[in-house]
Amino acid sequence: MFDIKSFYEAKSVRDAVDALVKDENAEIISGGTDVLIRVREGRDAGKSLISIHNIPELKGVEMKADGTIVIKAATSFSHLTNHEIIKKHLNMLGEAVDQVGGPQVRNTATLGGNICNGATSADSASTMCTLNAMAVLEGEHGVRRVPVCEFYTGPGKTVRERTEVCTAFEIPRSEYEGWEGKYYKYGKRKAMEIATLGCAVRVKLSEDKKRIEDIRLGYGVAAPTPIRCREAEKAVRGMAVSDPAIYEVLVSKALQEVKPRSSWRASKEFRLQLIAELARRALYDSIRLAGGEVVHWEENEMEAEK
Ligand SMILES: Cc1cc2nc3c(=O)[nH]c(=O)nc-3n(C[C@H](O)[C@H](O)[C@H](O)COP(=O)(O)OP(=O)(O)OC[C@H]3O[C@@H](n4cnc5c(N)ncnc54)[C@H](O)[C@@H]3O)c2cc1C
Repeated sequence: MFDIKSFYEAKSVRDAVDALVKDENAEIISGGTDVLIRVREGRDAGKSLISIHNIPELKGVEMKADGTIVIKAATSFSHLTNHEIIKKHLNMLGEAVDQVGGPQVRNTATLGGNICNGATSADSASTMCTLNAMAVLEGEHGVRRVPVCEFYTGPGKTVRERTEVCTAFEIPRSEYEGWEGKYYKYGKRKAMEIATLGCAVRVKLSEDKKRIEDIRLGYGVAAPTPIRCREAEKAVRGMAVSDPAIYEVLVSKALQEVKPRSSWRASKEFRLQLIAELARRALYDSIRLAGGEVVHWEENEMEAEK
């Protein structure tokens, strides 16, 4: 038995907001893969739960006429990974969320829950940050949009008001057309494992595929919240893909922007090593996926040894 005060199944987003406003002890439950664990552990015991699980307007993926991809917040990870729009335009996100937990978790857990729980380890978060995804929040005073990168305020904390429902995430065409990317997750095992570190890189190459026109670097667990390394991005922008120094330029800047901590999963020192290594690998793969002629970072080291 779960120690909850009450369970209300909302019929619509408006209905869910009204129920949250009415009961100050109420919390949203979507897939429940985080909430029910917190209830079981006693951290959220005695709460009233407002379920948004069966609200049709919160499920699915669509493309607007202007090319903006809209991912509804209560869409499950397995639905996301297998959706044609995601496979064609945002394959990196589909692959990232395919690394969450195991199949049962991915069939139930939602993108909205993953972002709204505020965890730095959330497997979707760094990719969503590098996509400049916008979270759509609906509350008693209307609708507002917040970039996912600015959504987090601290460990487990976000800008979302308790009475706001995250309804969707929007990714404009300019954020995915011409871009390729890769998410790397490090965990001690391949499934049912929260990330020790997650790293997302996205690149847009020049038309001749010789230069990095634009780049995004995002991390999970490299700081108390998911982060973007904007100085590292700035340093690599414009560099030639054939220059093996790009990896060390990216990594050396990124190491100045991250703030990893030691935890029972890994030491700060090991995380720093992962921050460097996963960024190199993700950049290498991103350039390759974008059609650039990749040069391995070790070629730089070999040059230095000559
Ligand atoms: C066995 C197991 C393995 C896991 N492995 C991973 C993993 O590898 N990687 C990973 O990232 N996570 C993992 N998780 C955590 C969890 O599955 C994800 O965070 C998941 O995405 C949460 O989604 P949910 O719909 O179940 O959220 P819920 O548990 O329903 O909610 C999570 C939080 O978000 C809020 N919330 C949910 N939806 C909304 C919304 N639309 N609007 C506003 N607030 C909302 C809730 O109030 C709650 O605070 C794992 C969990 C389990 C149980």
